[in-house]
Amino acid sequence: MKKTTGMDRNVTRNWRPATRALRGGTWRSEHGETSEAMFLSSGFTYDDAQTVADRFAGEAEGMTYSRLQNPTVAMLEERIALLEGAEACRAQASGMAAMTAALLCQLSAGDHVVGARAAFGSCRWLLDHLCPRFGIEVSVIDSTDNAAWEAAIRPNTKVFFFETPANPTLDVVDLEFVCGLARAHGITTVVDNAFATNALQRPLEFGADVVAYSATKLMDGQGRVLAGAVCGSADFINNVLLPFQRNTGPNLSPFNAWVVLKGLETLSLRAHKQSENAVALGQFVEPRVPHILHPGLASHPRHEMALRQMDATGPIFSFDLGSRDRAFALLDALELIDISNNIGDARSLMCHPASTTHASMTPEARAEMGVTEGLLRINVGLEDIDDLTEDLDRALKAAGF
Ligand SMILES: *Cc1c(COP(=O)(O)O)cnc(C)c1O
Repeated sequence: MKKTTGMDRNVTRNWRPATRALRGGTWRSEHGETSEAMFLSSGFTYDDAQTVADRFAGEAEGMTYSRLQNPTVAMLEERIALLEGAEACRAQASGMAAMTAALLCQLSAGDHVVGARAAFGSCRWLLDHLCPRFGIEVSVIDSTDNAAWEAAIRPNTKVFFFETPANPTLDVVDLEFVCGLARAHGITTVVDNAFATNALQRPLEFGADVVAYSATKLMDGQGRVLAGAVCGSADFINNVLLPFQRNTGPNLSPFNAWVVLKGLETLSLRAHKQSENAVALGQFVEPRVPHILHPGLASHPRHEMALRQMDATGPIFSFDLGSRDRAFALLDALELIDISNNIGDARSLMCHPASTTHASMTPEARAEMGVTEGLLRINVGLEDIDDLTEDLDRALKAAGF
């Protein structure tokens, strides 16, 4: 394969993000295809025995087996790393495979993790249920309280784990402070950047160590495949993550990798336009509802910080109608916006987190993180803003607002 369009890091480093999104990491075969080739092959063949011996010894580059490396998946990994500003990236089978690998590859019994209280339901499950089973201590804190991060540090604290903005309460974490604090104590920060993606926020610029993704969300952006990724230094990816991944096998299918490669071509355009639509729709909803959580609106307690950390505030916001009955009445009156618990899609989608994404948590844990019975979360898509406004207007009226 000819590495003509972007595997040479000295060339691609100078490309600007829009160029990287289209061309970064492309390997062209002898056919000179424009779109990346899809290598649906689990194994590879060799011209002679020494070649394969050299590859297995790590002394020669080249494919051996798709659990170890696959050309289509490698293109995606290189492109995400370039967009993230990371030295290396490894794709994962899903966002949760990425979060699990990013934590378990580096944690052992006796270590301590500090995690954000407001998080995706399954991320909380990793902290609340999985880590303790393996003797990993966990503290869950209010991630918007800088003093709480500092107070939670113990001599055995190994990892800080959080998302920003957080699902579904849109908590914004002070990246510079929290990553700086971690650095000062030799703690590794793992940031779940699914809500923003590198098109809107690059945590490594604020001192984060590891950025983990659900690429199912904005990166695919069209609701097609599950995918995930972990980005970090070459040392972390090659020496800490890779031994875990190669031997446990949470690998991304080449087909799914190819779909996400196509998604990355338009990621920045979609992320910015969806953010713009989300601010417009938020401004429309705000005067009508008792409470709105939207980092793109001045009423958000960390609006200024969100604007400093992010290029735009993303497609997702939440609002509270006070009761489950009213929230369900609104959902049932929607004609355009779909009831769906996915996010990052180019279609507008809405869900009731307490009965879906966060249903497995106890009512007390939900209440503590602000997932109330009346809370609705919306992912704002690329539809015409006037159609979205009309649909929400009708649904708000049906719910009594
Ligand atoms: C969706 C999501 C995940 C999990 O990703 P999957 O691809 O569904 O496994 C993790 N974190 C956040 C913030 C998410 O939104």
